[in-house]
Amino acid sequence: METPQLTSLYQQLILEHYRNPRNKSELDGKSVEVHMANPVCGDEIRLQLRIEDDRIAEAKFVGQGCSISQAAVSMMTTLLEGRSLDEADHLARRFTDMMHGDGDAAKDRDLGDLRALQGVSKFPVRIKCALLGFDALQEALKKEFGGEAH
Ligand code: ZN
Repeated sequence: METPQLTSLYQQLILEHYRNPRNKSELDGKSVEVHMANPVCGDEIRLQLRIEDDRIAEAKFVGQGCSISQAAVSMMTTLLEGRSLDEADHLARRFTDMMHGDGDAAKDRDLGDLRALQGVSKFPVRIKCALLGFDALQEALKKEFGGEAH
């Protein structure tokens, strides 16, 4: 069981990313851009990636919405820089598993600050908020993997 203290620590981390989002700006020289919205909550983001040699050289986003959606995408971008597309896909799967209640995924250090969102998995309506960034990422990866030959 989580202690109340841990929960409020997680809440602080979420609010901190919401108030001071990382990598929130337009990206010059982007390779791929994906717009993703969650109409139920009014969240929306545009995720922009610069991809070089099958690695994410830069990840930025612009968007608006609830603290969970915006904090999650901020946290996500901090983990993406330098990752291969395969690693990014793996992260997306782990995070999605965690949001669907997978306890092992919730302990995965690879997920960094994103682990603060594990409590959200108990609120089905908010899971879509938390997944918005990674849904956009997976869409972007699909475009890259399935796109024109380089
Ligand atoms: Zn939301």
